Amino acid sequence: MKVTRIAYSARLNPGKYAALVEQARRLGRVRSEVWQRYGSIAGVGSGLRDRQVRDRWLADGTHALFGVLANAWKETVRDAMADIAANLAAAKVEVHRAIGRRTKDPLERKRMFTALRADQWAGDPFLARQMRKHWKRGRNRTDDQIVVRADKYNTAVDGRGRLWLAVPGLEPRKMVRIPLSTTVAPTGTLRLILRGGRVEVHYQIDASQMRSSQRPCGDRTIGVDKGYTEALTDSDGAPHGCNLGVLLASESDRLKERNRRRAKLRSVANTAALCGDHAKAHRIKVNNLGTVKRDRQAARHRARVRTEIFTAVHEVVNKATTVIAEDLTKRFTGRKKLPKNINRRLAAWTKGVTAEALKSVSERRGSALVPVNAAYTSQTCHRCGRFGRRSGDRFHCTGCGVVWQADVNAAINILHRAGDPDIALHTPYHRVKQILQDRTDRHRTRLPVQDSSPATPGRRANHPNRSAMSKE
Ligand SMILES: [Zn+2]
Repeated sequence: MKVTRIAYSARLNPGKYAALVEQARRLGRVRSEVWQRYGSIAGVGSGLRDRQVRDRWLADGTHALFGVLANAWKETVRDAMADIAANLAAAKVEVHRAIGRRTKDPLERKRMFTALRADQWAGDPFLARQMRKHWKRGRNRTDDQIVVRADKYNTAVDGRGRLWLAVPGLEPRKMVRIPLSTTVAPTGTLRLILRGGRVEVHYQIDASQMRSSQRPCGDRTIGVDKGYTEALTDSDGAPHGCNLGVLLASESDRLKERNRRRAKLRSVANTAALCGDHAKAHRIKVNNLGTVKRDRQAARHRARVRTEIFTAVHEVVNKATTVIAEDLTKRFTGRKKLPKNINRRLAAWTKGVTAEALKSVSERRGSALVPVNAAYTSQTCHRCGRFGRRSGDRFHCTGCGVVWQADVNAAINILHRAGDPDIALHTPYHRVKQILQDRTDRHRTRLPVQDSSPATPGRRANHPNRSAMSKE
């Protein structure tokens, strides 16, 4: 399993930065050329590999048009061909679905799947039509990146302990030296991304090399409930990632306020442009409506939230060898757009990060992640199984006359779902409700339980939030 690391440059001499920007711009033209020639239906028919593209360009002199060093354009061709392949693979997933809808005949299906896999869909009218529909003609929009092969750069530490990365420039044997604001030297193929006067160095490392991957996992089975105030609450009653709520709320407030201000400025600029004051409109656009600072702030916020969530998951894995959690991935299969409302947008994104963190940390530290059906886990009492009322962070069970902490109650229910004989991962929502109701009805009329595990597990939360009305 690979993970991407990013090293940032320290403040860079403007002359050097400009030279890198120029190199990235020229390589952007290489990318555009690759997309233009090989990124469409016509291109894939020839089924070229990046090495063949390189040989052709060398033979017909295409490479000389760009004014960059040999290795730079070759690596860029390889990178752009990989992007095209990813684009094509995504289209094929859609066509795969279309084939499933088109025919139920297994032989016909098999024939089409095989043709699709072997890129021989051009001869089949249905497949060709579907490919044209789903394989949108891609266009290169990347002109701020430089890909550097592992043997083409070097790193060195100067007398003051600063790490320098030297990468090829536009002229042979003249390296551009970039000061980095880290002491960990990047390894493998590098992707330099030039943004706002800084260089981001993206590279991949094997996850097993990470220090956090070497920490052993715990030995227990723990259920977790995802939340927004805390990233996770576990079935022992412990919260993890407690700053998440504050982070999300303050970001939401900040975004609302900023968007309001930007809308106002935009209307001032538009009015000025209408009145003929184009200089003023331009000034506002350049000075007040830029994106550099906005993007940097957004990136910083994302990094903070990710750290909070990953730390929370690590804390859970510290004590668990098996983590039981709601299946958070299932609503992310479609390519639905994120909602427009800021709060819901942040919540949807946070859920995706939590899913990623649970999967990645479990995999790296050797714990098992068991996804379960979480339907009604926040609406039923973990002790008696009855439906209760949730208000804020409290859960009232009228059956037991107890108030639980809502997230803890849900986490314990999730833990129990792992061994539930009736409720499987894909049991529909309404069916789950029926099963839960049947269990409590049986309980009430004191009928023996025939076909399921006891609905009233003996364990209870270690930290229940007992109310004054508790009958015990
Ligand atoms: Zn109860």
